Amino acid sequence: MNEREQMLTSVLNCRRVDLYVDRKELNPVQQKQYRQMLDRRAQGEPLQYIIGHCEFLNTKLFVNKHVLIPRPETELLVEMAVEKARMMPNRPVRILDLGTGSGNIAIALAKRVHDCHVVSVDISREAIMVATENARKNFVADKTTFVWCDMFRFLSIDEELGRKFDMIISNPPYIKAGDIDNLPNDVQREPHIALNGGQDGLMFYREILKRAHHFLREEGCILFEIGEDQAQDITQIFEQYPYFRNTFVFRDYADRDRFMCSQLSALSAVVN
Ligand code: GLN
Repeated sequence: MNEREQMLTSVLNCRRVDLYVDRKELNPVQQKQYRQMLDRRAQGEPLQYIIGHCEFLNTKLFVNKHVLIPRPETELLVEMAVEKARMMPNRPVRILDLGTGSGNIAIALAKRVHDCHVVSVDISREAIMVATENARKNFVADKTTFVWCDMFRFLSIDEELGRKFDMIISNPPYIKAGDIDNLPNDVQREPHIALNGGQDGLMFYREILKRAHHFLREEGCILFEIGEDQAQDITQIFEQYPYFRNTFVFRDYADRDRFMCSQLSALSAVVN
């Protein structure tokens, strides 16, 4: 659907085909709504915030200005995670999702992995509210737990966990702080807290990897979305921790380095 069609189907609460077959007329209230939508769009607001939702892996998700709009490439990260999770021996598969935003990754995983539970953390209370609502609307509330907490604080918990996670997954903020002002206008309308990866864009990878082994079971895996020019630097961060192995980079639809995956070695207990 083009943008106009997306706005009209949203105002009329109908399918695309109804715009043409049934040729519904806009009543005055709907006309006003539609005009307001066009104005907001003309001022650079992302379409998804205006219509209030987006699609991610065939799932409709509610979004607002407090959450990053899920990107199509992140679907590939979820597909890789689903493949890994399905091969895991433990049930339920326990997944930790760091920086959940709209809950897109958690909800898509909960829908696709038969017996799993996803714990999702986000520093933004508004994001946790959006994600919780999205899980409820997609009937996966019982397979997800949303925790309002700074991920660094969450990762600093040093009590022994009952059972560690089988997988950690994250699409953290990874834009360099100094590059935020150069992003396209509509991206700048997204929460900077969801984009800003610190001075070199790598802060979240560094902090997550410092602590990840306390949260992962042996042989558990960690999956990241990364910036297209960050694979080398993040590989070096992984290399600081010898208990990570089988680390590899994979690419997005545009054939750019976009994701990394690694596994916690069974020997991690020795290194601990
Ligand atoms: N992929 C997003 C962008 O390019 C950034 C998301 C993030 O920082 N995790 O705008």
